[in-house]
Order: sequence, then C-alpha cells, then structure tokens
Amino acid sequence: MEINLGTNFCGLSFPNPFVVSHLPPTGDLEIIKQYFTAGWGAVVLQPTSLNGETGPKTAGASRQRMLYYRGVDCEEKRMTDLGWIEVLQPVALEVTERMIGELKDRFSDRRVIAGMVGSNRDEWLKVSRRLSQAGADLIECDFSRGPQDLAVAEDLKQMERAARYVREGARNTPVMIKLPGSLKDRAAIVETLKDAGADSLTVYYEPKGIPGINLTNFVPFPNVGQKSTLCVMGGAATKPYTLGMLSEWGRIGQGLPLCVQGGAYNWRDSVEFILMGASLLQFHGAVLQRGIGLIDELKSGVNDYLAEKMISSVDKLVGKSLPFLTEPEQLPRSVRVVAAVDDKLCTRCGNCFRVCSGLGYQAISLNNQRKPAIDKKKCVGDGLCVAACPVVGCMSLRRISK
Ligand code: SF4
Ligand code: SF4
Repeated sequence: MEINLGTNFCGLSFPNPFVVSHLPPTGDLEIIKQYFTAGWGAVVLQPTSLNGETGPKTAGASRQRMLYYRGVDCEEKRMTDLGWIEVLQPVALEVTERMIGELKDRFSDRRVIAGMVGSNRDEWLKVSRRLSQAGADLIECDFSRGPQDLAVAEDLKQMERAARYVREGARNTPVMIKLPGSLKDRAAIVETLKDAGADSLTVYYEPKGIPGINLTNFVPFPNVGQKSTLCVMGGAATKPYTLGMLSEWGRIGQGLPLCVQGGAYNWRDSVEFILMGASLLQFHGAVLQRGIGLIDELKSGVNDYLAEKMISSVDKLVGKSLPFLTEPEQLPRSVRVVAAVDDKLCTRCGNCFRVCSGLGYQAISLNNQRKPAIDKKKCVGDGLCVAACPVVGCMSLRRISK
C-alpha cells in the first residue's frame, strides 16, 4: 500500500505534518535551509513586528536573551525537560520578508509559516499585509507571548478585532491564531475567531514551574549566577496535558483546523496528537534536544504505523480518537473488568499483591508458593497490578459480566 504522509491544512498541501516551531535557530536562514533539506515539512519563522530587531546579528542577539536550560542537575547529569525563561524579541519585518523570499524560491514544496505579533490596528494590518505580499504560505499571529498579547487573548472583543485586522491584511493568505491552550471559554473563542475570518488555530500548553532544587547549595534550577526564577516548562512531561487540552479544542473546534505545539517527542506522540485532532505538529524542545535528524524517525515511524494499520494517509487519522471521549458521568457503568494472571508467565515476585494490598482492595492473595489468586468480587479493575507486574503479558484486565 502506498502511504501518503502529506497533509492538507487550510487548503495548502504539506509534504508531511512535521513543523519546526519558532526556535532561536529559525531566525537563521542557513539553518532553516538545513531543516528543509533534512525533510521537515514547514518552519515557523520567529515572530516579526514593525519594531522588531534588524541586522544580520538579530538571531544571534535574540538567542542570547532566550535563556534555555536542559537539566535540573548538571552535576548528577539528571536530565529533565527543556525550559526557557525569556521569549525571543520580534524580528524586523524586512528581515523576515527577505527570508520568506529566499526560502520560497529555493523550497517551493515546503511551507513557510510567518509568525507575527502586533499591538494595534496599524501593526496587525501592515505586518500581515507585508508578510502576505512577501509570499508567506501562512501567517501565524501569536497571542501567547507576553502579558500584552495575553490580555488581548483573554478579551474576546479585542481578540476579534485583532483577528479581523490580521485577516484583512493577509488577503488570500491563510491566518492561524496562536493561543495558550489553557484559555477558558474555548467554544466562545472558536466562534469569535471563525467569525473574524481566522482559518486555523495553534494551541499549546506550557506551564510555568521550577524543575528542581540543588540539594547541596539550595539554589532552585536553573541556577543563573546563584539566582533562579519560574520557567516556562516544555518537553515530554507536558504530553498528557497537551493531549487533554487538544481533546477539548478538538471537540469544540467547529471545523477549524488545529495545529499543536509542544509535548511531542517521537513518532508515537505525533500519531497520538493527530488522533486527538491536530493536523499539524510543531516541534520545539524535541528539535533542540534531538536535533534536525529527528525528522527521519518521525517520518519512518508514522509511515510504518500507517502501513501496519492499512491506512493510506495521515489525513485519515485526524481526530479519530475524539469520538471515544465523553464526560465522566457518561462512562458506561455496565462494563466490568477484573485482573487476571497467566500462571505460566508469573515469576511469583509478589508485586501485584503488594500494590493491591497497599491500595486497600485486598483482591490478591498469595499461596505458600507465592502464586497470586484474584478475588473477582473484591477486584475493582483499576489495573494498577497490571502496571506493576514486571512480566509483559503476564497480567491483564478481562471483561466479565456484571
Ligand atoms: S485491578 Fe486493582 S483491585 Fe483488581 S487486583 Fe489489580 S490492583 Fe487489585
Ligand atoms: S506481579 Fe506478575 S509476576 Fe509478579 S507475582 Fe504478580 S502476576 Fe506474578
């Protein structure tokens, strides 16, 4: 079966759904060329504005201000997720226009997504118009960067006005609106943005946190000259939250295509995000940690998965898991499962007994050979013993009639 990794987003074809989000290196034309040459389907350029930074050193200057860290404890080499403290400064519009021109000349089959920020009518209109004229495939207007952008995102009237100006300036170029996925009142936001002419949404979940504390000198991480601060946390740890957030936007999306940023680290995460409604996936921390070559694993992993499932294209997966979600009170109560043990595989380690006893269910007993037996009347089917069993396939949950 021929597999098509290509996807259609806002009426545009993408060679694959994998997008490099705006990283410090996406301010550097030569590095973006490397991303495209390696096989990434699209790149989001660093946000631009009328008063952005100019000059060939822009990307480098911004890079220094965006303080990344990647381990809670460098001494012990314990690695956690990527975090950062400051956002990049917007890039000058003329710099972005030049980059778009050169990239579209050389990589006509890839998609260049131009990020933008604005703070007033003039800026939203002018920046989107010039990005459209420069040849951007999509314009991503970012309402998630600083307190000023968030104030707009949290005020429906302001957001509608801003989205209308961007839409008007962008003419025929599709417009994505980027929002923190944690915003409340999602249904009203989607309706407002659709009315304002937005073509798609980019959502992300990046909570602030302190990743740990050095127990020797008491300084919380990251240690910046013996000082620390709350950081934006990204990376693999955010995947469950991103999936949850995506499910909520996906369910009320009213046909607005969704792009998601953050939380995906490998091909499997990618498939899960697509199943939950995302048509495009922006990679940020994963690229910084795993490098440009990550795209090979993403493409081959998703390709093999589709082939195994006999599904011919990525587009056919979008949102497939959404219909399975419901409210807690609507979960079926007639279904009952209990734990079961495969005696041939059991090593008599006793983990299942310890877990179930510790929880207070007392549904597992061990005989004098330490062979576990399940009391079906006491078992509530939470599956924690299955997770605790070290032997793959030894424990399972089986459905029984009530
Ligand atoms: S599923 Fe839960 S209640 Fe049942 S045996 Fe396992 S741990 Fe105990
Ligand atoms: S945890 Fe698994 S292997 Fe260990 S006693 Fe229980 S069933 Fe057997």
